[in-house]
Amino acid sequence: MSAPSAQDLRDRYRPLLLAESEALRVASAETGADRRPVELDQQSVGRLSRMDAMQQQAMAAAQEARRRARTQAVAAALRRIDEGEFGWCADCGDFIGSARLDLDPTLMRCISCARS
Ligand SMILES: [Zn+2]
Repeated sequence: MSAPSAQDLRDRYRPLLLAESEALRVASAETGADRRPVELDQQSVGRLSRMDAMQQQAMAAAQEARRRARTQAVAAALRRIDEGEFGWCADCGDFIGSARLDLDPTLMRCISCARS
């Protein structure tokens, strides 16, 4: 399989990665209020709805942790593009493959190395 040039890879995946990075940033900013600690005020909310609120806050925090991890993976992929290393397996050095990169441009390993 002939691999695309570094320029081809850059043209194809950089805009996708930048768009995802921006979407993650916006989602993070928009959900900031959901992650605020639950008020301990028992007058304004009943016990059940307070537990509900705590559960929702925990879910929002978990979601944010996933977003943060994804944001780091996207930033690392953008760095690899800038360094001309994007698209090449971190383990064996082979081309990762367009189908695999289309699926997730943050992947760092070819299918055989990812399986082992
Ligand atoms: Zn490999």
